[in-house]
Amino acid sequence: MAKATLHCSFCGRSRDEVKILIAGRERQTCENSVEHPQEIIEQELSTRTDGSGTGSSSFKLTVKKPIEVKRFLDEYVIGQDDAKKVLAVAVYNHYKRLQQKPVENDIEIEKSNIVMVGETGTGKTLLAKTIARLLNVPFAIVDATVFTEAGYVGEDVESILTRLLQVCNYDVAAAEKGIVYIDEIDKIARKGDNPSITRDVSGEGVQQGLLKLLEGTDVLVPPQGGRKHPEQKLIKINTQNILFICGGAFDGIDRVIARRVNTNAIGFNVNKELQEHMKKNLLQYINATDLKSFGLIPELLGRLPVVTHLNPLDQPTLRLILTEPKNALIRQYKKLFELEGIQLTIDDDVLDFMVEKALEFKLGARGLRSICESILTEAMFELPSSKETSFHLNLDYAKKQFDKSKMNLLKVA
Ligand code: ADP
Repeated sequence: MAKATLHCSFCGRSRDEVKILIAGRERQTCENSVEHPQEIIEQELSTRTDGSGTGSSSFKLTVKKPIEVKRFLDEYVIGQDDAKKVLAVAVYNHYKRLQQKPVENDIEIEKSNIVMVGETGTGKTLLAKTIARLLNVPFAIVDATVFTEAGYVGEDVESILTRLLQVCNYDVAAAEKGIVYIDEIDKIARKGDNPSITRDVSGEGVQQGLLKLLEGTDVLVPPQGGRKHPEQKLIKINTQNILFICGGAFDGIDRVIARRVNTNAIGFNVNKELQEHMKKNLLQYINATDLKSFGLIPELLGRLPVVTHLNPLDQPTLRLILTEPKNALIRQYKKLFELEGIQLTIDDDVLDFMVEKALEFKLGARGLRSICESILTEAMFELPSSKETSFHLNLDYAKKQFDKSKMNLLKVA
C-alpha cells in the first residue's frame, strides 16, 4: 500500500514542494510556516474564555507598589498629592485582594471604593485615565448622568458593567477584577428631602441601583448596554472584586462643610489667618457626612468608605500644567510644529499671560487649551505653507492674537 504523502499542517504544501518538513505527533510544519505555530498558540490562548488561557485582555497581574503608582501619576498630573496617595493605596490594595486566597485565616479584605471630590477641571478624570494607563486590569470610565431607575427613559445602571466587559472583549473573568470610574456622581444626589409625588428616577433611584453593584453580588448585564429587555441574553458578572472610583464636583458643598466645621465659630478676630486658610480650601475637610447632606444616601456612602478631595488650581499649578506633565499642552504644540519641520520657541512671559487669562476668565486648566489655540491658530494656519523653520512666540504677538480672538467674550463679569 502506498504511503500517504505528508503535508504541512499550516500551509498545506506537500512533502515534495518544501525543503524541510518538521513532523510532530499529529501535525507537521514546513520551513515557510515555521513562524506560524507560535502565533497560533498565542491566538488560541488569548481567545480562551474558560480561564485556562491568558484571557482576551492578556490579563496578568503585576503588582505596583503605592509609591510606584504615585510616581507614575506625578508624571502626568500636577499636585493633588492627597488624592494621588489615596488612589495609589486603593489600587495597591485592590491588587492584594485579587491575589488573596479564598478566605485566608477567615480574614477577608474588603474593597475600599473611593469618592473624589473636586471642582470641575481639577484633574479627577485625568487621574482616573492615568491610572488606567498604568494598570493591567480592565478599566472603564462611565458617566452617572445617563442612568435612570429601571423602567424609565435612560440606561440601566448595569450597563456600567457592559463598558467594563467591552474593554476586555467580554472576558468575564477579567471584568470581574476590573476598576470602574463613575464620573459626575454628584448629579445623582437626592433632589431634596421631601418625598414628592414625582419619583426621583435619575437621583435616588440610580443610587439604589448602584448599591447592588457596589456591594458585590451577581449582576445580570445586558451585553450591548442600554436597557435590559426580556428576550435578551444576559451575562452574569460578580462585582465583589470590582473596584469603584467615583468623582464629582459637588457644587456648593463648601457651604455644607463650612456649616459643619463652623468656621465662623473660630471667631472674627481670633486666628484670622487660620480662618482664611480654611476658607480657601474647605474641601480638604470633606467627609461622608457632607456628602450625605448633599444628597447621597447613607447606604451608598457606606459602600464608598474612602473620601478624598482635589484642590482648586492656583496660578503656580496652572503654570506647571502648561509645561510639566509628560503630555503637557506646550509639549504638544511643540510637537505639532516639529512635525511641520518648524521649531517653536515660547517666551516665559507668554506662558504667564496664558495662565493669567485662564484665571481671569475662570476657565481653569481646561481653558488653557482654548487660550493656546486662540494664540497659535494664525501661525498654525500660515506656517505650513511657508518656508519657515522656526517660530518664536513673544508676548506682543500673543496679546495681539488673543485680543483678535473671540476669547474675550468668555470674560466672566
Ligand atoms: P475633572 O474631571 O476634574 O473635571 P479633568 O481631569 O477632565 O477635570 O481635567 C481637564 C483637563 O485639565 C485635563 O485634561 C488636563 O489637561 C488639565 N488638568 C486638570 N488638572 C490637572 C492637573 N492637576 N495636572 C495636569 N493637568 C490637569
